[in-house]
Amino acid sequence: MESTITISELLSLLEKYSLKPNKKLGQNFLIDENIVRKIINLAEVDQKEVLEIGAGPGTLTTFLSQKAKKVFAVEIDKKILNVLKEVCQNLSNVEIINQDFLKLNVKNLTSTQKLCVVGNLPYYVTSQILFKLFEERNYIESFTIMVQKEVAQRLLAKPGSKDYGILTVAMNFYCKVEDYFHVSKNVFYPRPEVDSTVLKVTFKEDIPDVDEKKFFKIVHACFSTRRKTILNSLSNSLGIEKAELKHVLEKAFLQENLRAEDLSLDHFVRLYKELKNII
Ligand code: SAM
Repeated sequence: MESTITISELLSLLEKYSLKPNKKLGQNFLIDENIVRKIINLAEVDQKEVLEIGAGPGTLTTFLSQKAKKVFAVEIDKKILNVLKEVCQNLSNVEIINQDFLKLNVKNLTSTQKLCVVGNLPYYVTSQILFKLFEERNYIESFTIMVQKEVAQRLLAKPGSKDYGILTVAMNFYCKVEDYFHVSKNVFYPRPEVDSTVLKVTFKEDIPDVDEKKFFKIVHACFSTRRKTILNSLSNSLGIEKAELKHVLEKAFLQENLRAEDLSLDHFVRLYKELKNII
């Protein structure tokens, strides 16, 4: 098969294997060839080794296969795998992996090159997938992912906005968003409730020099009670006396009445430096 499958081809394949899109697995399939091309162009996969998360019926996979050197098409659902196998049967550079991406050993797939990750992500598990991508950063060159627009707003949020949270801080800690575009909910079958956004993300070379476990413990503590000041949140969550914390905040040049959503990555790093030996 040379191009993406059309809605009628998709429907007849689903019918052939007696399948209905599985909502629980986030199966909203892309059915617009222009959007598929836009995603592939943004991902820049020419001659690269690609890991596709959630290949489904192979809509993106067939296009990836035309440009990439190799495509590892990861799909958790055994049922949709029949469709994927049929769609990819003549594509010698596609390797289908029937596994949960969250349990995948990414290192085992890499040879000399780092992987380009591409995926129209299943929405129910987006955050976990993002944290797994952060963890596997040594083996990944970039990731180009479709997520719900609301998630993209959290990933792109600036300090001081309601969307700014732990996910934003983690994203800023590890990654740089290179580019993004929005996609209407009308280009999926079945049509989801909300629009989506495609983001291309690369990893920073200079992530902050911190003990990541401790750093994110502090970030979580600050966001544990969003509406409270960091003085109160940190004291409640980490069990540190307020008098001691006031001194810490002063040394970090942070006002005690700030809230977690006001703190930039640099602020969190400053806070970490003053707190790391206490927690
Ligand atoms: N790539 C196809 C497309 O663009 O039309 C399908 C995208 S659909 C939004 C997400 C796919 O991810 C589904 O096929 C679903 O079965 C699969 N999936 C869900 N959870 C997964 C997981 N933990 N690991 C791998 N694949 C998963």
